[in-house]
Amino acid sequence: MNNLQLPDKYQNLVLSCQESFATKLSSQNNLTESESALLHYSIYRENNLHSILLSHTLNGLNASYYEAGSVFESLAYSYIDTLPTLLTTIHCYELIKSVGDESKKYTLLNTVLHSLKPLAFCLTEEHAGSDTISLKTNAIKNDKSFVITEKKEIVINDGIASFYLVVAKSNKKGRAGLNVFLIPENTKGITVQHHHVTGFNKCAIGSVDFNNIIVDENYQIGEEGSGYFLLTEMLDKGRPFVAACCVGGAQRAFDIITDHAKTRKQFSKPLFEFQSINFKIAEFATQLHAARLLYQDACNKIDNNEPFSKEASMAKYFASRLFLDITNFGIDIMGYKSIINASEIKHLNDVAQTMMFIDGTENVQKMIIASLI
Ligand SMILES: Cc1cc2nc3c(=O)[nH]c(=O)nc-3n(C[C@H](O)[C@H](O)[C@H](O)COP(=O)(O)OP(=O)(O)OC[C@H]3O[C@@H](n4cnc5c(N)ncnc54)[C@H](O)[C@@H]3O)c2cc1C
Repeated sequence: MNNLQLPDKYQNLVLSCQESFATKLSSQNNLTESESALLHYSIYRENNLHSILLSHTLNGLNASYYEAGSVFESLAYSYIDTLPTLLTTIHCYELIKSVGDESKKYTLLNTVLHSLKPLAFCLTEEHAGSDTISLKTNAIKNDKSFVITEKKEIVINDGIASFYLVVAKSNKKGRAGLNVFLIPENTKGITVQHHHVTGFNKCAIGSVDFNNIIVDENYQIGEEGSGYFLLTEMLDKGRPFVAACCVGGAQRAFDIITDHAKTRKQFSKPLFEFQSINFKIAEFATQLHAARLLYQDACNKIDNNEPFSKEASMAKYFASRLFLDITNFGIDIMGYKSIINASEIKHLNDVAQTMMFIDGTENVQKMIIASLI
């Protein structure tokens, strides 16, 4: 059982999503990953979860980061592989919200909110993974538009997004050369290619090739050279939510493991009675509590306008590592049952492995933490 105390006003929202998943998905078989992603996203959208952080003026739920984090943890307990579609869209809204020019910000937000489909964020390239500044995507100014060329290698919501938020560089070197653009899905010159990602079979993930596409200058987000600030702010603010999802998934794995350990008997005793096993479970119970407090602390800091980057990276680093460690332990103590019949613990282990990369690897989180000590 998930022992998270969800704020009362969000209980019904999560229940409503759960009911819709049960009714709408029961009649849908053999969905592709993209169809499944869109169906789940439409249910989240009907419940206004896509705009959970947006103000009432924008018809949003105006939740705090703390409240939103709790909602994501709660949903991740049962539906973790449906959340990247939603979270990527929310991260993109948050990036646009960081734009200083109020009028431009609201114009762009209203544009993206008008669409029923999710958004995609395009940063990673073949040569630019953790080292984001080494990206090669060029945005060349040509009168009142930009010409953008390069391939983004791994993008959540590829092929199903209404807009792609693309990080590209101008002639200036390093951070000062980075800019972000909002590119409509139907722009001439965009080609997508789907990747199958183990464990994420309810998400559309793939590469997006931008071949000499033309973007109106009004679709440049923020001022010239503001890209590094915008993307850093977005990734930093996204990390507590990725951590919350990892805590939800880790809690699910913990409950499966504990239930198994208490019921599976070997050498005439439940596995749980062997100290080598119950000590490990006690350690994980402690670490789960700590992981939850870490992401909640980072969320509280964001809500209170305090510096939060270090805590956000600590939360992501700790929760994603814990999720992987718990599921690895689960594979071990559930024996052959963990690897037959597409077991839930194996699925969670696949998801945990992938969550290590999203919003920066473990080493990248440590680099950020060390830089702020
Ligand atoms: C499922 C999934 C979805 C994704 N979705 C998106 C998306 O929507 N948009 C997007 O732009 N990107 C996306 N990504 C990309 C993700 O952000 C990158 O995978 C991540 O930033 C790491 O880059 P990389 O995979 O190229 O690894 P690399 O950067 O090549 O790193 C490989 C290893 O080297 C380590 N390493 C690298 N540099 C250092 C260093 N200086 N010191 C110590 N260790 C180092 C890393 O920690 C890692 O262990 C997604 C990735 C996955 C797996």
